[in-house]
Amino acid sequence: MSKANKVGLGQLRQKVEIVNIDTQVQYLKGVGPKLGEALRKRGVSTVGDLLSWFPRAYEDRRAARSISTLEPGQIVSFLARIVQVRSLNLGRSHRKIYEVVVADGSGRVSCKYFRVPYKGYFERFQPHQEVRVSGKAQLYRGRLELHHPDIVLVGENEEQEDELIPLYTETEGLRPGKLRRIIGAAIDKVILHPEKPESQIDETLPQWILQKYNLIPRKEALKLIHQPPPHSGNEYIEFKAPAQKRIIFEEFFWLELHLASVRAGVKQEAAPAFSKKQSYVDRLLSQLPFQLTGAQQRAFFDIASDLQRPHPMHRLVQGDVGSGKTMVALMSAVYAVENGYQVALMVPTEILAEQHFKNAQKFLKSLGIKVGLLTGQLKLSEHRQVCEQLASGEIQICVGTHALIQKEVDFKNLGLVIVDEQHRFGVAQRQELKAKGASHFLVMTATPIPRTLAMTVYGDLDVSIIDELPPGRQPILTRKAFENKRPKVMAFVRDQLKAGRQAYVVYPLVEESDKMDLKNAVTEYENLQAEFPEYRLGLLHGKMKPAEKEAVMREFRDGNIDMLVATTVIEVGVDVPNANIMVIEHAERFGLSQLHQLRGRVGRGQHKSYCVLLLGYAVSEDGTKRAEIMEQSTDGFKIAEADLEMRGPGEFLGTRQSGLPGFKMANLVRDVKILQDARQAAFALIQKDPQLTQPEHEKVRQDLELTRTAIIG
Ligand code: ADP
Ligand code: MG
Repeated sequence: MSKANKVGLGQLRQKVEIVNIDTQVQYLKGVGPKLGEALRKRGVSTVGDLLSWFPRAYEDRRAARSISTLEPGQIVSFLARIVQVRSLNLGRSHRKIYEVVVADGSGRVSCKYFRVPYKGYFERFQPHQEVRVSGKAQLYRGRLELHHPDIVLVGENEEQEDELIPLYTETEGLRPGKLRRIIGAAIDKVILHPEKPESQIDETLPQWILQKYNLIPRKEALKLIHQPPPHSGNEYIEFKAPAQKRIIFEEFFWLELHLASVRAGVKQEAAPAFSKKQSYVDRLLSQLPFQLTGAQQRAFFDIASDLQRPHPMHRLVQGDVGSGKTMVALMSAVYAVENGYQVALMVPTEILAEQHFKNAQKFLKSLGIKVGLLTGQLKLSEHRQVCEQLASGEIQICVGTHALIQKEVDFKNLGLVIVDEQHRFGVAQRQELKAKGASHFLVMTATPIPRTLAMTVYGDLDVSIIDELPPGRQPILTRKAFENKRPKVMAFVRDQLKAGRQAYVVYPLVEESDKMDLKNAVTEYENLQAEFPEYRLGLLHGKMKPAEKEAVMREFRDGNIDMLVATTVIEVGVDVPNANIMVIEHAERFGLSQLHQLRGRVGRGQHKSYCVLLLGYAVSEDGTKRAEIMEQSTDGFKIAEADLEMRGPGEFLGTRQSGLPGFKMANLVRDVKILQDARQAAFALIQKDPQLTQPEHEKVRQDLELTRTAIIG
């Protein structure tokens, strides 16, 4: 929303003489106070806001056709008659979908809506009305349908029939034709016939960037986006036109420029440089029963090089599940200890903290390094003791959960913070750790993030990738199966148990829920115990007390439990090499990243490993597709790419913690190439002029300040 929102009454009454981008939208021809208010509610206060209310799609009226000729994947627009409007209940849940069935002389087709654009949207439609339907035809369970098409009553629009029409987000009380006319008026006043030169739209990007990346001027782009030229082809529909490229580039550019300048800032801060001597690292390595993989060596080399420079390290290590990130973390930790610093190793769960703690102790005892454990589970007296030992510097490496960043925890000389499985930690928490005095950050994630997202979400971090698994791992064989194959699957599990292996059986829910008849861990645990009386079963779910969870995990790890019945609490980091089979019930309920994380619990030892994805009968097409992707690949990066493509960036990252600004037009999946260009341009600019003090970058510097507030919130 624009800051020009706050207008004094005097100003309101005053007649507006010159329309420019800061003019309140109500003063535009054809708007007025009432519509002005409606627009303001949508976040459109000024003429500038209106011009950057971009179409979300375009309707190609030249492509008008009949229903019988529709083909899947086509973006189409056709005239039809409404046959039926109704709402359907979705399964046994409370969700509803709306269906508008339309027909022309050649056939009929169903238009489905999984959410309502606004209250009362469907009330406008009655049988027999003539409508224009625009959207993408797609196959759904073997039938052709349109999902969320635009339906406009014929007569609502007066535009020419043979045009490319921009479509905007539906807004109550604002007809599409009307909106297009208002935007047209704004374009006329501000772009085509500005009353004064200074009321024009300024160019925001430096000339050399426009030239190098072949971008059209901003002013021109803003016009064309709303008013595509009459004979333009599919490029607008596909968001590949120069005007769109220019706007998308700019959206990415501000984010990348922000990241580039943050990164440049970090690189200028001072931090003590570590000495090159690595005797602790050498001693640690000499104890290992294995050799580091090349990828582990490269990752540690990156880290050590960072630490030897007199500036803070902010590095992300991405490595698939089982790629051996823990060892890289331990090497980094002992390197910091040798240089006289304390290290905090943060993990998201108690179980994981304990596991890392044990691991660290095992390897570091002989080096004479004192390792501590700090979680929310400690008794008050234990907690106090750990805190004292952190404050005195006695504990050199402390493993813990978010308990580590509580206020009362003080370090004597915290030098390095390692955050494992970082997707559970937000930027804010990184900040808190910084406040505790740490200057070096190492972030480890086993949720591979497609490169495009890494460029945006972790764009201020340097990245190392561990793209190699330790040798001797047997690939995990993954198969999907429907419910009716369950007895066969369980017979196979029994064979594995007989051979001395251990098994995981994973469920999506903890307790019985009457809304959905999903199997749940608690009752299924009982059923399975009856089915496998000769084996020891354990139950693990999120509602258990941490101490109970840990006890079960420990028993499983020590081989005293043969089959672990669990919910997704086992997802992160747990390492039991003897467990070689996992059955995931209702696998359709899980996202791809989650399935991949879960599956990563097996295939950690010498034994051939298996993952069975059991699908309920009500599986959706997406659910089946996810299972197929899992069958085809064990590469976390490939799976992440597929996941991103299926779900889009917001959901992929979890909208709230995504750390992504809301792009108006840019799309991280569709516009990868433009993102790469924008990133390159932004980083080149910062390298050229780190503080943006050169006169030709003055405007960029001002705009960056403005967008920063929008990005950081
Ligand atoms: P992740 O990257 O998922 O955190 P871990 O660090 O837990 O992986 O390592 C998985 C397993 O592989 C552990 O048992 C670890 O000891 C072992 N491991 C790590 N590096 C190597 C290596 N270079 N060669 C053989 N085994 C290794
Ligand atoms: Mg790990």
